[in-house]
Amino acid sequence: MSAYFYLCCKNCEISLYLGKKIASEETSLTLQGVYLEENKAWNNDARAWKVIQRFLQDHEMHELLFASDEHFPEVHLYESANTDELLSK
Ligand SMILES: [Zn+2]
Repeated sequence: MSAYFYLCCKNCEISLYLGKKIASEETSLTLQGVYLEENKAWNNDARAWKVIQRFLQDHEMHELLFASDEHFPEVHLYESANTDELLSK
């Protein structure tokens, strides 16, 4: 079973979905990135960084948690961050 990873804000109960860990020969974690409706695809480029950065700034000083739904199943009760909206901010 593969786990799905999220950046979660525990204060706002909102999460940013970062997809699955991509199989790689390296041991480091490679995530799918940020999914955008704009191009209906996973993005792992400057747009993904902008979305993540926006999310971090919106939740400055909040309790953030990076976790998979395997270890933090409560994430399924959280609202999902709108990535396209974050990108356009
Ligand atoms: Zn927050």
